[in-house]
Amino acid sequence: AVPGIRGLTPYQPGKPIGELEREFGLERIVKLASNENPLGASPKALEMVRQILGGTHLYPDGSGFELKAALAEKLAVEPAQIVLGNGSNDVLDLVARVFLAPGLNAVYSEHAFAVYPIATQTVGAAGKAAPAHDGSRGPRFGHDLEAMLERVDAHTRVVFVANPNNPTGTLLGRSELHAFLAALPERVIAVVDEAYFEYAHAPDHPNALEWLGEFPKLIVTRTFSKAYGLAGLRVGYAVSGAEIADLLNRARQPFNVNALALAAAAAALGDVEFLEATVRVNDAGLARLEAGFRTRNFDYIPSAGNFVSFDLARPGAPVYEALLREGVIVRPVGNYGLPNHLRVSVGTAEEIDVFFAALDRVLGR
Ligand code: PMP
Repeated sequence: AVPGIRGLTPYQPGKPIGELEREFGLERIVKLASNENPLGASPKALEMVRQILGGTHLYPDGSGFELKAALAEKLAVEPAQIVLGNGSNDVLDLVARVFLAPGLNAVYSEHAFAVYPIATQTVGAAGKAAPAHDGSRGPRFGHDLEAMLERVDAHTRVVFVANPNNPTGTLLGRSELHAFLAALPERVIAVVDEAYFEYAHAPDHPNALEWLGEFPKLIVTRTFSKAYGLAGLRVGYAVSGAEIADLLNRARQPFNVNALALAAAAAALGDVEFLEATVRVNDAGLARLEAGFRTRNFDYIPSAGNFVSFDLARPGAPVYEALLREGVIVRPVGNYGLPNHLRVSVGTAEEIDVFFAALDRVLGR
């Protein structure tokens, strides 16, 4: 293997429901492990998938013309500024392949999304994790942008910022993120990963797309996996200046987004009602989770996403295992440097109640 591969920790996906069914023969399984949409997907997107099924012998549109046109209109950018990916992970990987190489490095924060080191080290570049906030100057576990800037050196070509971040749910405000982007050396590509953007409504929640004109090296990534409920179809995208998008598109696999995903995503974009319902359910679910953690005296990290990480004050892995046997799948986050936390995705009110009941049983409360 090329250098760097053996040092990688493989991405640990949420345990699939089917696996748990086989393992424990459980009837009801609640999966709150992968920040998926508890409402499913937009009915309009599903209808489109049914229509497209008859054409699966044909290659998808390799340029993603219609989806890019729909996105361009919605986001007020040009189609030439958009790069489609097989999930936004694919786009993050493209960024690494296009801008990183042995001898170069990428900077990200401790407890940041696991794909940044994977994408970086896969191309033989070095990943530099800056320490997260300790709570004295910013939200505990959140990105410390000053510490990240300090890690940027002559060999840094990419910085990855997740806003909000997974698994911490921490959010960077407009002025601090803007100042960080402005302070980066000109040669550095800044990736602002907005996978959870659609859930945003804090007044200070930045929309990094607004800064594309100002920062030519800015790449904003988003996804249809979360609020749009299309995680299983795999579609995400990057928006940047047209020059950077052109470079990414050169390295992109010709048909990286499948036909079902392209059509479903375009339809999902038009279903404003579904998105609004999603955000409503998420707000209510976040409040329900946070109230449950407060009642039980667990420290949790206030989240701007569709998940909450909470501190068990003891190792999370055994509690995760015990919850599996109760038919509840959450996410251990030890591989994110948070061994005493578990991350639970927002579900319906009923799913959240099932989660807390299982947690209470497991902890003997
Ligand atoms: N970025 C962040 C911060 C995420 O949490 C995720 C999903 N876990 C992704 C990117 C990638 O999602 P997808 O590839 O499904 O678009």
